[in-house]
Amino acid sequence: MNVNNIENINKENSNNCKSDKSNKNNKNNKKIMLTGDRPTGKLHLGHYVGSIRQRLEIQNSGEMDEVFIMLADAQALTDNFDNPEKVASSVIECTLDYLACGIDPDKAHIFIQSQIRELHELTIYYMNLVTVSRVQRNPTVKTEIKLRGFNNNIPVGFFTYPISQASDITAFKATIVPVGEDQEPMIEQTREIVRSFNRTYNCDVLVEPEIYLPPNGACLRLPGIDGQAKMSKSLGNAIYLSDTEEELKKKVMSMYTDPEHIRVEDPGKIEGNMVFTYLEAFSNDEDFEKFLPEYKNLDELKEHYQRGGLGDVKVKKFLLKVLNQMLDPIRERRSYYENHLDEVIKILEDGTRAAQKVAGETLKEVKRAMKINYFEEWNK
Ligand code: ATP
Ligand code: MG
Repeated sequence: MNVNNIENINKENSNNCKSDKSNKNNKNNKKIMLTGDRPTGKLHLGHYVGSIRQRLEIQNSGEMDEVFIMLADAQALTDNFDNPEKVASSVIECTLDYLACGIDPDKAHIFIQSQIRELHELTIYYMNLVTVSRVQRNPTVKTEIKLRGFNNNIPVGFFTYPISQASDITAFKATIVPVGEDQEPMIEQTREIVRSFNRTYNCDVLVEPEIYLPPNGACLRLPGIDGQAKMSKSLGNAIYLSDTEEELKKKVMSMYTDPEHIRVEDPGKIEGNMVFTYLEAFSNDEDFEKFLPEYKNLDELKEHYQRGGLGDVKVKKFLLKVLNQMLDPIRERRSYYENHLDEVIKILEDGTRAAQKVAGETLKEVKRAMKINYFEEWNK
């Protein structure tokens, strides 16, 4: 895979993120990936298709100079400040999920956001460059405020998290950020901050990142098994990467399909039918050859379902096989790391140390550009 291709694909995919200044400020032309998750629970299939699959592709492309994966615990605390135990235990759970999926500590630095003070310092300076009304316009923030029922009691920390996210991205001079569709407004906000900072302080310190979205529409925002909203740790509608075969079976068998498809012979609907949405996201033609050879591909299966004569259970059993095939090696690797937690902690310590060094360098450059590097200047 060529990462220039990734960037081109993204430019085509994401009009919001277009900019002719793209990466102009990346003096060293380094290719750096940064992404992360809020440690608010274990990772689920939405994370896998929305971001982890792309991270693995980029990590394994051999084209990155550096890869950073962040556990956004400080961000998770903005709406879980009263439940630090959940956040702390999720730091380990998410790391186990990363390693289980194939994030390779020899190629990627996995680090913990709260342990890098430089990130918070950058946030303070960036806050001056963003207006309250600009944050209020952010559609993802709006949705999340509603979802969490904050009404007029929005914690300031939560409200400003897009600015802190800009610090996370720019501290590493990330050029590519593989995330789900809901993060598009955050990347756009980051790009605005980069332009504003470089313009205001007449420098080229910060680098504009490009978003890297999933290639397939079903993966942009994978819905939960209830078909109600996007799959989310906070909504209790998720299939976790660490679910056992038994748990997975229960969830797949209870998935929302077409409520009017009552008898096998009834014609069924594909739109809004979670089983077909998930097959769109996870299955390929080889899976049909292996597990359901009477159909060549998903189009044929859909066609039969719409015509009538195909029962939900048969389609669900196929989906179950597809998912188990994908999850089996993940479960196996997870079990190894669960039994070697000392290795996991060492990976986090090393990753955090490496990340801190890079963020420290960027903060120095930022302070120089803002002319608040007093002692460096006075002691020259
Ligand atoms: P929370 O409910 O705590 O916000 P979450 O499940 O939304 O958790 P995040 O940690 O906010 O997960 O998101 C991590 C990454 O996974 C982001 O890049 C996000 O876009 C992506 N992602 C999360 N849920 C989905 C989904 N259902 N489909 C596609 N991508 C997703
Ligand atoms: Mg989220």
